[in-house]
Amino acid sequence: MQIAVYVKNIVQSLEKAGFEAYIVGGCVRDLLMALTPKDWDVTTNARPEKILEIFSDGKYENVFGTVLVPVKLANGETEAVVEVTTYRSEQGYSDRRHPDKVVFEDSLEKDLSRRDFTINAMALKADGMTLVDFFGGEKDLKKKIIRAVGEPEDRFKEDALRMMRAIRLACQLNFTLEPKTERAIMKMAGGLKFVSAERIRDELVKILESDRADEGIISLQEMKLLQYLIPELERGVGVDQNKHHIYPVFKHSLLSLKFTPNKKWQVKLASLLHDIAKPQTKRIIKGGATFYNHDLVGAKVALKIMARLKFANADIEKVTTLIKNHMFYYNVGEVTASSVRRLIRKVGEENLADLIDLRVADRLGSGVPKAKPYKLRHLEYMMEKVRFDAVSVKMLKINGDDLMKLLNIEPGPKIGAILDVLLSEVIDDQNLNNKDYLEKRSLELNRMDLKELRERAKEKIEEKKMEDDEEIKKEFYVK
Ligand code: ATP
Ligand code: MG
Repeated sequence: MQIAVYVKNIVQSLEKAGFEAYIVGGCVRDLLMALTPKDWDVTTNARPEKILEIFSDGKYENVFGTVLVPVKLANGETEAVVEVTTYRSEQGYSDRRHPDKVVFEDSLEKDLSRRDFTINAMALKADGMTLVDFFGGEKDLKKKIIRAVGEPEDRFKEDALRMMRAIRLACQLNFTLEPKTERAIMKMAGGLKFVSAERIRDELVKILESDRADEGIISLQEMKLLQYLIPELERGVGVDQNKHHIYPVFKHSLLSLKFTPNKKWQVKLASLLHDIAKPQTKRIIKGGATFYNHDLVGAKVALKIMARLKFANADIEKVTTLIKNHMFYYNVGEVTASSVRRLIRKVGEENLADLIDLRVADRLGSGVPKAKPYKLRHLEYMMEKVRFDAVSVKMLKINGDDLMKLLNIEPGPKIGAILDVLLSEVIDDQNLNNKDYLEKRSLELNRMDLKELRERAKEKIEEKKMEDDEEIKKEFYVK
């Protein structure tokens, strides 16, 4: 078993000082499964002040009494932080989030019994041989079972996040839930309302990052948790699409997630949410249904969901950009280099490959046999071809300072507006990106007022969407 040397050293230093100390929790589970632990936790009967005496550069984390011990490399750089925690039990949970009181304990068993699942409640000595396993964790590990320590209902009542952790661990490890634990989740699901958005978000991201993200979302739904996380997704259950789209919206969303050819959780989340607004934009027409503007509305709904779950702005921006643009139109021969440049401008160079992956996911999730038809490969080829073209104001051969001098005007919105018009023209025709032309054109544009300039720039940027295209409509709305 591969215990990191620096962790072994920490455990042994505590032992030398006369204390008990063990490696504990998720890292023991990982070691027994021959996986590399992501982080290391050590538990000991030494009280925090004693731990700090032994590790002089340790930092005391006040709220939970954990001491963080940084581990330095030979060159003085910090390699990792090991969490050293005194044996404890937790009492109370009257707010259903935090224990009212953390009590230091003298026995390892007490500490292990407050942990969530049997596979997470084992401790290991520094020798890597002596396993302490009061709750049958090793057996459950062999049987690939997630089982709550103690009475599952009580444990989920104490901390409702454990229900999500159960599902997260099951999808990360490809385990199943022990029936009693599973029944308790269904019963206690509503407790999730009391859990902070940040903790929920972090578990959701871990589910998305796992190779079985779709199964995780299915479990969340089956175990009645999804309604407290993303109720908007459940609206798509059983919502039929048009006759050539074989799956209802929710099923299609799960399959899109499953088939996302991309490891980034943001792209996976975009796959899961890309049709989130289909239920509310559905209109019945003769012989079928339309979902006009579901991409734009969907981006707004996704924004609301992600803001509610306290996602970082950059992540929200990325996911909503992908959703907003997932209907991008592309047909070989019909689409020009300038329209590809316009798409790049709108989506951002950094999101292009992800947007194509989202389209592939969408297609596969619709039961379309070919992931990447010739059209999409041709689009990739076109994107490569226009890669070094000017698609942003920054890439113009003229800038704001040049304009101020040339036109003798003050800094202000007009400069930006002129640059936008210039860019829209350059996107159409890259030959225009030369200083002579841009200067001449700026002098002309300077005679227009701000409103006129803005309209002119906007007109050019408006782009054709797949949905608006008659031919695609005839082609049964298949994306
Ligand atoms: P990861 O692979 O994400 O690190 P982990 O199981 O190690 O998973 P941590 O959050 O690192 O999870 O927690 C370490 C240990 O602390 C767990 O293995 C478990 O024993 C205990 N633990 C963590 N969260 C809870 C909780 N909400 N309730 C009870 N015990 C918990
Ligand atoms: Mg861990």
